[in-house]
Amino acid sequence: MAAGAGIELLLNQGAGSTAPLCPHGPTLLFAKINRREQETRRFYACSACRDRKDCNFFQWENEKVSVARLLAREEFNQSRQPPFTHKQYVERYQYFVSLPQVKRIFCLDCQLLLLPEDWDKHTSHQQLGNVFLHQLKRPSKLLLPLENKKTNAQYLFADRTCQFLLDLIVSLGFGKVLCVGTPRLMAVGKKLFLDVTIFRLLYLLPDGSGEKCVARMVLHELIKLRQFEKKNPVMKSQLLDIDFRYSQFYSEEEFCHYNMFNHHFFGEKSAFEAFQTFMCQDNGVPIIMVTDPPFGGLVEALAHSFKKIAATWKTSQKEDDELPIFWIFPYFFEPRILQCFPTFSMLDYQVDYDNHALYKHGNSGRKQSPVRIFTNLLPKTVILPAEEGYRYCSLCQRYVSSANRHCEICQACTSKDGKEWKHCHICNKCVKLSWFHCETCSHCVLRDHSCGGARSGCFICGSTDHKRRECPDTLVQNKITEKSRPHKRKHFKMNKKDVTTKSEQQAQAMSTGKKKTMKRITAKSKRKKKRKSK
Ligand code: SAH
Ligand code: ZN
Ligand code: ZN
Ligand code: ZN
Ligand code: ZN
Repeated sequence: MAAGAGIELLLNQGAGSTAPLCPHGPTLLFAKINRREQETRRFYACSACRDRKDCNFFQWENEKVSVARLLAREEFNQSRQPPFTHKQYVERYQYFVSLPQVKRIFCLDCQLLLLPEDWDKHTSHQQLGNVFLHQLKRPSKLLLPLENKKTNAQYLFADRTCQFLLDLIVSLGFGKVLCVGTPRLMAVGKKLFLDVTIFRLLYLLPDGSGEKCVARMVLHELIKLRQFEKKNPVMKSQLLDIDFRYSQFYSEEEFCHYNMFNHHFFGEKSAFEAFQTFMCQDNGVPIIMVTDPPFGGLVEALAHSFKKIAATWKTSQKEDDELPIFWIFPYFFEPRILQCFPTFSMLDYQVDYDNHALYKHGNSGRKQSPVRIFTNLLPKTVILPAEEGYRYCSLCQRYVSSANRHCEICQACTSKDGKEWKHCHICNKCVKLSWFHCETCSHCVLRDHSCGGARSGCFICGSTDHKRRECPDTLVQNKITEKSRPHKRKHFKMNKKDVTTKSEQQAQAMSTGKKKTMKRITAKSKRKKKRKSK
């Protein structure tokens, strides 16, 4: 990508209602920016897919579209929706659960819970038989994470992170969680809910049939239950995700098929209503939104959606509070997130993933995860575990990584990556230990840089913290090194890649992950925007 040239997202340009639709809901309006940072032409493209092979929607803003083409487009959009409605999925689930275990079969190729009448069609597919009921409670473990598809990676939290988040949410007193793109957290929350329900059923049946059990309960169990109930009140959660496979496992109250880049609810109107009800009912039960969106770009689109979510919640609130949010994202997006949400702060906690080599926690010399939690909660209320190496800084009034030292001059714990940083008196800020102050460039840089060149930053996300090859988005990196370089491509044109399996096809149609082939908002056009807005 030529420096200075790029693509910029235009929100609130009166586009909203007039934006054409792709299979992923209303498209977003973008502007091409040329080398001299001038806007050239505007166009609509898919909000969810950065890759042409997932969604090749493209339309110039002022393009005339014939009626025939509109009809064809509508038909195509319809054809890309899930094969069943959510209601049908729920009915199928209920039937599935009622089957004897030997008849409970999950088709791995189609990622579908099969009913006896489907068996014929799936005989040649890979299947998982004897599905246990408890497996249905953690669909994120049953469903293949969309990971080996280059564009559809799903990065699931490591159990440690998931437990940490849930304990934190419970200890902060939240009784409800809106999970936006966090299916694993949803499942753990649901498990907690089930545990409590089962406990109640076993021991506390009001008709007295549980009495005997209560008598047999040893005291400490009772105490535990009391504590459990007091500290861990039943947690309600709702999952919003573009991965419609979850409709198979969750009711319409628990799951909405949703696109977080354009705040679009798929399917019938009832999906939006379920969300609205979840956000506004049981007033007084504190609610928090936890989101872990695909990384790479479009921070502004996400923020736009999250503000709409918060606005829905606000309609039910008397006080002028903000909806508490945990937004999980890499630390180098901090400036852009804070620009959208000035009340947010970034916590030092390193979020770990199961299936991502680069994001695993860094004790024992492994690479540290660059993924953090951004929140509008008071940082000092979010206690980070000492046993994982976090400490409290009484000056900053927040928990920080143990290597993150308080700089007297900056008056803050300045490290962003969890490693030690040092203060540069010329730049008047703290920088990584591996950097030095270069007289020629007159700022701090890596030792092996080329003087006077463009700021050595990441080609993919614009961060100056790392190079392209270290970008957390390995997928992007593969894409760029293996395939066409972005500047060779015209408006997102991608080589058509053959789709291998049916489930891939389905998944690709409906879901996107941590992937990005092309930065739509370059760091530079971003900086320009900043300047403009000042
Ligand atoms: N760490 C999380 C998963 C994060 S991966 C966990 O363990 O629960 C990103 C998630 O966002 C995936 O579940 C993916 O299906 C979802 N997602 C991707 N693009 C989306 C979009 N446009 N709208 C809504 N959800 C999306
Ligand atoms: Zn699309
Ligand atoms: Zn400093
Ligand atoms: Zn310096
Ligand atoms: Zn230099």
